[in-house]
Amino acid sequence: MAEVVLEHVRKVYPQGGHVAIADASFAIGDGERLVLVGPSGCGKSTLLRMIAGLEEITSGTLRIGDRVVNDLAPKDRDIAMVFQSYALYPHMTVAQNMAFALQLRKLPKADIDARVRQAADMLELGALLQRKPGQLSGGQRQRVALGRALVRQPQVFLLDEPLSNLDAKLRAGMRAEIARIHARTGTTMIYVTHDQVEAMTLGQRIVVMKDGVVQQIDTPMSLYRDPANLFVATFLGSPAMNTLQGMLRQDEGPVLNLGDGLRVRLPDARLPAAAMEGEVVAGIRPEHLAVAGGKDAMLTATVETVEPVGNEVFVNLRLGAHPLVARLPPEDPPAEGQPLGLSLRGAEVLFFDPASGKRLVA
Ligand code: ADP
Repeated sequence: MAEVVLEHVRKVYPQGGHVAIADASFAIGDGERLVLVGPSGCGKSTLLRMIAGLEEITSGTLRIGDRVVNDLAPKDRDIAMVFQSYALYPHMTVAQNMAFALQLRKLPKADIDARVRQAADMLELGALLQRKPGQLSGGQRQRVALGRALVRQPQVFLLDEPLSNLDAKLRAGMRAEIARIHARTGTTMIYVTHDQVEAMTLGQRIVVMKDGVVQQIDTPMSLYRDPANLFVATFLGSPAMNTLQGMLRQDEGPVLNLGDGLRVRLPDARLPAAAMEGEVVAGIRPEHLAVAGGKDAMLTATVETVEPVGNEVFVNLRLGAHPLVARLPPEDPPAEGQPLGLSLRGAEVLFFDPASGKRLVA
């Protein structure tokens, strides 16, 4: 187990001079499970591959434990990596696949057998040890790939979109399994995904990235409640946060003027001083909209479609040109095509600077 520390790590790909990572400085605690998340192309794989030693670091310092590893070969970094493509040896059995790296390291056979048995137990692969990868399902193959990393008992596990080839149900099951493995081994784990749900459920902390720049690092719920900017606010959460840009004015309480005579009354909570009188983006989570009639309605929008998901319904609305989504209880869903009065529950509206996207805080 070890801490991993990045200090001003930068990556510029020589071909084309593309800045894949601008300047990343953060630490992954000893035994922590950290997720790197962001849209495709944001640089998360590049960052993980630099930690693995598969990609050269242009500048900055990378430490694993108490060693600077910038110039250390992958095999000397004491890490184990799991990829989206399982990359199993097709002509070897499950047991041989798991044992292979240990044989290369010339571990005694008894040790190898014990480690393979222990990993097989942890991953419930005991009955499959003599099968070849071609005789396994996708989920079983990914288990073997995890097992192969486990037997190495590395200081750090690196996982790059390991579940992306699996169907949704298997993914949820494997997510829980990876969390369980992490809890049992206590090994530092860095996990890359583009999937915000995977990031939220698996990360003890999450690093949100965009265009090679770290946007925010925090626990899942802190990122959800306290996003630093519009990108983080709208990237995490499904359906995504609603955003309405308009001019904020005080008129017996705060009112957001969206233009074309559209007005949204806002809860009379503590507003950030910078938002008091000017152009802002208001961010409203779909769960903070509630059906309201008469004077309680703070806005009235037209219901376009109603999507039932079982325990709740997603109601897609339109307020002039602005789309909105509300998560409502499944009983008595509103009628499509009809106007619906809504209130903003609590003081849950967030404000952002329209130019920079930065959160405006009270
Ligand atoms: P992600 O994993 O977030 O999808 P990557 O780390 O794979 O993103 O890529 C980050 C950026 O670097 C992308 O714009 C990608 O096109 C570019 N890139 C990745 N690998 C190379 C390479 N070998 N040469 C040049 N550019 C690359």
